Amino acid sequence: MGSLATERTIVGWAATDPSGILSPYTYTLRNPGPEDIFIKVLCCGICHTDIHQVKNDLGMSHYPMVPGHEVVGEVLEVGSAVASYQVGDVVGVGAVVGCCRDCRPCKSDNEQYCNKKIWSYNDVYTDGKPTQGGFAESMVVNQKFVVKIPDGMSPEQAAPLLCAGVTVYSPLKHFGLKQSGLRGAILGLGGVGHMGVKIAKAMGHHVAVISSSDKKREEALEHLGADEYLVSSDAAKMQEFADSLDYIIDTVPVFHPLEPYLSLLKLDGKLILMGVINTPLQFVTPVVMLGEYFSFILLAKSHKDQILFLLSFGVHVNTCAVSTCSFCSPIINHVIDCFITRRKTTLPLNLATICVES
Ligand SMILES: [Zn+2]
Ligand SMILES: [Zn+2]
Repeated sequence: MGSLATERTIVGWAATDPSGILSPYTYTLRNPGPEDIFIKVLCCGICHTDIHQVKNDLGMSHYPMVPGHEVVGEVLEVGSAVASYQVGDVVGVGAVVGCCRDCRPCKSDNEQYCNKKIWSYNDVYTDGKPTQGGFAESMVVNQKFVVKIPDGMSPEQAAPLLCAGVTVYSPLKHFGLKQSGLRGAILGLGGVGHMGVKIAKAMGHHVAVISSSDKKREEALEHLGADEYLVSSDAAKMQEFADSLDYIIDTVPVFHPLEPYLSLLKLDGKLILMGVINTPLQFVTPVVMLGEYFSFILLAKSHKDQILFLLSFGVHVNTCAVSTCSFCSPIINHVIDCFITRRKTTLPLNLATICVES
């Protein structure tokens, strides 16, 4: 085991204002301690939350900000108290890198709900320094917030599971929606939506994609393997689907009324809200009350056990090419630029596609 004692100066890609444009930024990593792991970043996924953050959509951004919270890296050094990881291991880091360790959520391994949790970036670490994310050369992370990537899984496969993947998997597990044969729908086909289709299909569900236009039909049915495709403005088709779904995973990150979708749920169906939206939700309460639905907003990702399970399960999910691009690639600027300027109407996967095609 190596010893960690000195601050390192590294370069990351930071937003410096709400334009969200990233540029090289030099900073020091916090002084690592005995429980810390120093990793070289191999790749980092791009999540819609990164876009919200770099553009200050939620009014909580601090600059300069290095985004990225689907980080896969190689362990270069470990602290003296680190026993479970070794130099050369490939590990993942998600959205949370610190917590109080003393509250009820922390003691039940649900540190994502700790009131003092520390986000991977746009937050302040216990030493008073800003946290910076995975669009960087390297990171120092406490061992509690690191997961080992299974052998045989590529970094590009693993990265999107660390946020988008576990974001989808966690509520399905939480609400007991794991058995095969369930009927689900994915509303919105961005990065989380892609992951939702893949994970739900891997669980043996019958999966419909609901979108506002016909543009993603081929992508949904032929590339992702969805069973059905609905355009939300097609009233007849929507009516056909009424009262038929066990759950809807709503990933749409912009304002949209919920009533048209609530009526598609069966009795006790679950509407799982995942899109981060900075405007109030819209629905008429009797629609919810009479339908006996549960509405649910997922705050953050799941705990480490679920991430580890998903990583092992993920080999079968075939996540490659979803929402990931290599940080070191010279096309990162192009990818980020497309993301920020939204020249593409859909996010992560198309960006990853650009990445592959460029
Ligand atoms: Zn994310
Ligand atoms: Zn806590």
